[in-house]
Amino acid sequence: MSRVAYVNGRYLPHRLAAVHVEDRGYQFADGVYEVIAVRRGVLVDAEAHLERLEYSLGELRIAMDRSRRALVVVIHETVRRNRVREGIVYIQMTRGTARRDHGFPAAPQTALVVMARSQSPPSRQIVEDGIKVITTPDMRWERCDIKSVSLLPNVLVKQLARDAGAQEGWMVRADGTVSEGSSTNAWIVDSEGKLVTRNLGNAILSGITRRAILDLASSEGVEIVERPFTVAEAKAAREAFMTSTTAYLSPVVQIDDSIIANGKPGHLTSLLVELYDSYTLSAG
Ligand code: PLP
Repeated sequence: MSRVAYVNGRYLPHRLAAVHVEDRGYQFADGVYEVIAVRRGVLVDAEAHLERLEYSLGELRIAMDRSRRALVVVIHETVRRNRVREGIVYIQMTRGTARRDHGFPAAPQTALVVMARSQSPPSRQIVEDGIKVITTPDMRWERCDIKSVSLLPNVLVKQLARDAGAQEGWMVRADGTVSEGSSTNAWIVDSEGKLVTRNLGNAILSGITRRAILDLASSEGVEIVERPFTVAEAKAAREAFMTSTTAYLSPVVQIDDSIIANGKPGHLTSLLVELYDSYTLSAG
């Protein structure tokens, strides 16, 4: 089936979908994005994603030039035209097209691109065997709470991980604490059995999956601490995992050369995998 993308008011065949060479997203990474999961044709946590999109736009002073409702119509239509049942929607908004100049254009017109594609949730193998992550310095700016399309450090980290035969890179700040993965939030179960993930702030993205997992864990009575943790602590953890819209909850069984516990996904991790799977299937 041929794919269709929405670009600035038009639904175009994927191969013809393009933005202007002077789009500021292209020249300056002057834009933001969101990725929303689709399960059985339903958007997972759409409101939370759109709220975060509005937050990111606001922080960069890019105008949200349409209502949330109008944007949702475009998102649903893009999903429908691409016949996505299991997959993702990608939404990108930039400060639009203008003659190249670092400062904002006088009358910017926010540009919008929406794409959707079919994609399966993480395989049984990932869920049962877990994945490996590497650690690497966090080279990003101090506004990682904004979901900006400026992803070069994240791109380099992901490739570093792949080159090392790992699936993700956990970024480490100057103080030795883990911020997050290149496209995921990072979690451990500490030596006391507490579920630990970094507190919100400028060092990490406020993951929508992170929020859902915190709620699910808390309704199971799990003790949760939102705080930074070090690489050494992560390597000595009882369990580890990462979360995102596309990775769902993926167990981590190795960090650099250290095997986590017995090298298998932990009990709490596996429980949360199941709970989150049910959650996404019933979300809407
Ligand atoms: N952290 C970073 C840097 C990300 O890019 C992402 C997702 O793309 C996440 C965390 C997870 O966020 P979410 O759960 O909203 O997908």
